[in-house]
Amino acid sequence: MSSTFTELGVPRAIADGLAQRGIIEPFPIQAVALPLALDGRDVCGRAPTGSGKTIAFGIALVALVGHGRPRRPRGLVLVPTRELAAQVTQELILLAGPKGPSVASFYGGVGFGPQVRALRKGLDIAVACPGRLTDLAERGEVDLSEIGMVVIDEADRMADMGFMPQVRKLLDQIRGERQTMLFSATLDGDAAELTRRYQTNPVTVDAEPISEAPSNRHVFWWADGANRSDLTAQLVSAHWPAIVFCRTKRGADRLTDKLNRAGVDAAAIHGDRSQAQRERALASFIGGHFQALVATDIAARGIHVDNVECVVNFDPPDDEKAYVHRSGRTGRAGASGLVVSLVSASQAADIKKMQSKLSMPRVIDRPEMSSIATSSAPRVRTARPAPAAAAAGTNTFRPSVRPHTSSSRPARPAGIHSSAPGRGQFEPRRQPVGGGSGKPGRPAPARRSGRG
Ligand code: ADP
Ligand code: MG
Repeated sequence: MSSTFTELGVPRAIADGLAQRGIIEPFPIQAVALPLALDGRDVCGRAPTGSGKTIAFGIALVALVGHGRPRRPRGLVLVPTRELAAQVTQELILLAGPKGPSVASFYGGVGFGPQVRALRKGLDIAVACPGRLTDLAERGEVDLSEIGMVVIDEADRMADMGFMPQVRKLLDQIRGERQTMLFSATLDGDAAELTRRYQTNPVTVDAEPISEAPSNRHVFWWADGANRSDLTAQLVSAHWPAIVFCRTKRGADRLTDKLNRAGVDAAAIHGDRSQAQRERALASFIGGHFQALVATDIAARGIHVDNVECVVNFDPPDDEKAYVHRSGRTGRAGASGLVVSLVSASQAADIKKMQSKLSMPRVIDRPEMSSIATSSAPRVRTARPAPAAAAAGTNTFRPSVRPHTSSSRPARPAGIHSSAPGRGQFEPRRQPVGGGSGKPGRPAPARRSGRG
């Protein structure tokens, strides 16, 4: 897969913009989907998280969408979560550049004012969560009848989250000819129904079969009761930045407290948190201020943080799809990561079934930290903003455009690998406060006392 973006039909200005960000070689899903999408075809893409779907549909959208009018955008991207809406919007703005189409996001949890103003002024591409877009349509603030290009991103997740009725209603408002692209980690069930109903002669493209988890190292450990949080603290201390998955919001809060008490800098991110709190936690995590983000599945959906070293399944995922999604939070864009799942005796049967479905060895081991190779790369945790500043809601740590590593990253090999060849690529986002270029190893927990 050695073609360049321009060879795939990508306009030079867009390809140049990508190159400036170190994105030179198309990922597999981009190589197969881009020529079709740029040709105006309906594309139905199956690809796991981290495979580069946003650029795959984003380029076509930015290149072909045309101009919207007040309240009548021309392009629409439907996404399941606020975080994903924000991330897709950022990517589209980068792809569009200063002269390209205008883009704005529409999601709940924040006021209507700015969103309504953006619509009245007129914009070309709307990136929206189904709930908020439905509200805006019902208030007469947005009219979808002139949409010519639609992207349904993370369709399976949208269905899992119960958005299908709203998604259908919104798509039914789009009349006339349009190009519809759908992306999903799996293309069965509701995603298949959307394809049948809303796509015309779709071409299905497959980047990587779902049964093949990415090139992460997958470990399953026996753990019961209190042991779970101790193990999680040890894991995160040795392998951060980490994302820890919990089943419930309360569980996530409880675990976050326990981790903090054990000397691990952790923050929770879940649906009960305000949008501002979620953004702050995410931004601080991206900025290297936290070792662990403790998340529920919904909150973590679409979160994009480069160089996450480890995913811990504190509670088991619901099914193999959820497992693949969670695992996709680490080992993104070519680098390998570590996925550790804690398994109690009562969960073992389900976990083993899941392992079979994912063609993994049906093995659950005794926990042993030494069995997990430690990365030798320097990792630097930066000082956190003083809680007062964070609480006051200053914008210092808003998530901004994700920095890109300069080299083009290798495409991820398929299959499950027991070793982790790409480890040790973590690059600190910021220089440590207090000078120095970052010592190898992790800073002692005593650094936490530096918090205001
Ligand atoms: P997905 O939507 O499939 O989960 P994203 O679109 O969020 O994946 O992309 C994952 C990461 O890979 C992002 O950091 C993105 O900038 C990066 N990326 C995408 N395409 C390329 C490429 N061709 N070369 C290098 N990095 C890329
Ligand atoms: Mg995506």
